[in-house]
Amino acid sequence: MIYAIASGKGGTGKTTVTASLAAVWDRPLTAVDLDVEEPNLHLFLNPTTEAETPALMETPVLDTERCTLCGQCAAFCQFKALSVMGKTLLVFQEMCHGCGGCLALCPEGALSPGGRELGRIVSGHFQAAGGAQAGFFMGRLRVGEAMSPPLMRQVKALLPKTADADILIDSPPGVSCPAVNAVMDADCIVLVTEPTPFGLHDLKLAVEAFRPLGKPLGVVVNRAGIGDEKVQQFCREQNLGVWAELPYSRAVAEAYARGEVAARVVPEMRTATLALMARMRDAAAASNSGEVHHA
Ligand code: SF4
Ligand code: SF4
Repeated sequence: MIYAIASGKGGTGKTTVTASLAAVWDRPLTAVDLDVEEPNLHLFLNPTTEAETPALMETPVLDTERCTLCGQCAAFCQFKALSVMGKTLLVFQEMCHGCGGCLALCPEGALSPGGRELGRIVSGHFQAAGGAQAGFFMGRLRVGEAMSPPLMRQVKALLPKTADADILIDSPPGVSCPAVNAVMDADCIVLVTEPTPFGLHDLKLAVEAFRPLGKPLGVVVNRAGIGDEKVQQFCREQNLGVWAELPYSRAVAEAYARGEVAARVVPEMRTATLALMARMRDAAAASNSGEVHHA
């Protein structure tokens, strides 16, 4: 099963929840950080790195000797990455989306595939529940690179088949293209929020964005008790299950500051995380068996 931990906004504690789940997960597991613009799950899980490889995207390289400046490639490119200017064809590498269309189209064979580095893919292992070894993958976007979904797709292509191990995804925050890309293959989505007006606002956006995917959706209210009950009220109105309420705790904040996994060092977090894990598994199993899962 694939479980995606997401949030409508940053700073809700999404990675704290993901790391805690990874630490108590008692089945074969691969944890994945797809928050490629700002990956930080590794800071908590402290994986042993086994490989770090560049992730490349195929972009066109021009052979000026062959190019007749016919302009067909520039007319085809929807992203304006190619432009005939006077007696030359300009290739704007950073604007290319790697569709490969211009390479296939050029009648002179003047374009050949080159590689733009999107970022790096790190893989390794970390110690999960009971001392078991669990897999770890992380994408890290190159500074200045604008396109994260192609890198995320390359990370996802490396993941084991879910029959071999459950997969826990730390998704990018928000509801834009990278966030949807991270959760779209999941069997279950967990939305982490906080009981504040901002948390509620962005939770509404996340529900609006992710509910049409038709996957089991549950909410974790982090730092419960610091605000009001409007998040819980919204969840009741939307028939959304609140799968965990994690109390606002100095001990959790201190664990975070030390780079420790909260569920490993704070007993209440461990208890709440185990209960959350059970709710996630029930929801995913019910959904896969065709049952409608209600909160
Ligand atoms: S399609 Fe080929 S020949 Fe025509 S402008 Fe582009 S690169 Fe040059
Ligand atoms: S590969 Fe696609 S996106 Fe990139 S320059 Fe060619 S047509 Fe444009």
